[in-house]
Amino acid sequence: MSITQEVARRRTFAIISHPDAGKTTLTEKLLLFAGAIQIAGSVKARKASRHASSDWMEIEKQRGISVASSVMQMEYRDCVINLLDTPGHQDFSEDTYRVLTAVDAALMVIDAANGVEPQTLRLLQVCRARNTPIITFINKLDREVQEPLNLLSEIESHLGMDAVPFSWPVGMGRSFGGVFDIRRNRMRVFRAGQERRGDSDDLIEGLDNPAIAEKFGDAFVKANEEIELINAAAPAFDADAFLAGKQTPVFFGSAINNFGVQEVLDALVDFAPKPGSRTALQREVQPDEPKFSGVVFKVQANMDPAHRDRVAFIRVSSGRFERGMRLKISRTGKEMRPNNVVSFLSQRRELLDEAYAGDVIGIPNHGVLHLGDVLTEGENLQFTGLPFFAPELFQAVEVKDPLRIKQLRIGLTQLGEEGAIQVFRPEAAGGALLLGAIGQLQFEVVAHRLKTEYGVEARLMPSRYNMARWITASDPKVLRKFMDANAANIAYDVVDAVAFLASSPAQLRVAQELYPGIEFHAMREHG
Ligand code: GDP
Repeated sequence: MSITQEVARRRTFAIISHPDAGKTTLTEKLLLFAGAIQIAGSVKARKASRHASSDWMEIEKQRGISVASSVMQMEYRDCVINLLDTPGHQDFSEDTYRVLTAVDAALMVIDAANGVEPQTLRLLQVCRARNTPIITFINKLDREVQEPLNLLSEIESHLGMDAVPFSWPVGMGRSFGGVFDIRRNRMRVFRAGQERRGDSDDLIEGLDNPAIAEKFGDAFVKANEEIELINAAAPAFDADAFLAGKQTPVFFGSAINNFGVQEVLDALVDFAPKPGSRTALQREVQPDEPKFSGVVFKVQANMDPAHRDRVAFIRVSSGRFERGMRLKISRTGKEMRPNNVVSFLSQRRELLDEAYAGDVIGIPNHGVLHLGDVLTEGENLQFTGLPFFAPELFQAVEVKDPLRIKQLRIGLTQLGEEGAIQVFRPEAAGGALLLGAIGQLQFEVVAHRLKTEYGVEARLMPSRYNMARWITASDPKVLRKFMDANAANIAYDVVDAVAFLASSPAQLRVAQELYPGIEFHAMREHG
């Protein structure tokens, strides 16, 4: 198959939701329907360890497990589908944002009882900012849930995009009869249980089929009226509007009962985009160019305790990846020749032979690959868009044993490069290093990992800062003047980008008013 054909059959998407909406269950079922049945058990195993997430030992355990299942590849209807999981816990949302830069579409799971929940909302904002097309799955119709019409309008108002239902529920909870497949003009009858996989005897053709009216009575009448309402009010599905992130196709179902899953899988194949071009600072990179390029969007340290290595997750942007090929890291100009490359099919770190745009490969390394790094066959390319968000929580860090200060710096540099935490070095002499986070749990994980992976007992102390903004100015003299006047609030991050740290929104506001020549950024894009 040519590179162009390989690219055309790839679909790469992230699955996002608020915790407990049914992401794990749906993931498991997608794999099941695509024929990767053996995986289902391990997705559950990961889940089992998740509920104790206040305990950081559990997080450690979970980290080991969730990495293995964080990228899954399956084949369905001649398509190669890459499914990227996102961390459920909001304290690790930065990780999620970066995963979203590596996908071409997102599958949003909504609990029909709860509607659009806060965590989903934040993720959606990132999708919106990137115009990522979103497919919506409304889950748990086997329960007493919100009215489907209300759910639709909630999605529309929160997402700011049109919701176009492809299926429509008949009844809910105990009277859940199934869904109308609006486009195919038939009804799929609901049967509880996990052993079925959508047999054809569950189908009744024709929505005007008297058999449906007879069997489902009032629920049918109601659903029918609702569909008429929708047909009159909702716009028709428009593939371009979907691809531009302006419309989301909506499916109803019950993941745990294998119901509605097939339709979602088909929608991914039929509507989700194949990998597109990627914008580098130098030029537009096409996915079917002959030469390989790819971006590191995630780094996970010490995945294998026996080797204490780090695995860089790379999304292929173009060309064909082959094991043993010679690659250049754009940032450093260094060459590497990865032989021991992993793919994530079937939860095992399988050796992979080739990969194409949209695929994810893992390259074990000892710190030469950083977040945002671009690998090519020699060309110097820099991609934009890997976001770092200004931390909202800060702690000062010191080492208990002064002789371990070097290990502390090494550990923090590596954890910083991995994106586990942000590390700031104050400009003022003698200041302790500062850790910046979005979620409190990040501090606990970092302290724990410093101890277990680097042998450093770190002391974390309260900091007077609680806001950061990266600062730039078109005139370097203006920037210098600002930095000198605010020396006590200036710090450098891992890539030496300058940040202004404030202890209150008021302090930031004053600085902004006094120095109109300075730009304050809440987000830094890598590269
Ligand atoms: P996640 O936190 O989003 O990954 O959610 P899970 O997949 O772990 O699901 C959370 C809970 O909802 C679990 O107890 C599931 O068994 C349950 N669940 C998932 N799908 C359904 C469904 O379709 N119907 C019902 N009644 N429960 C479901």
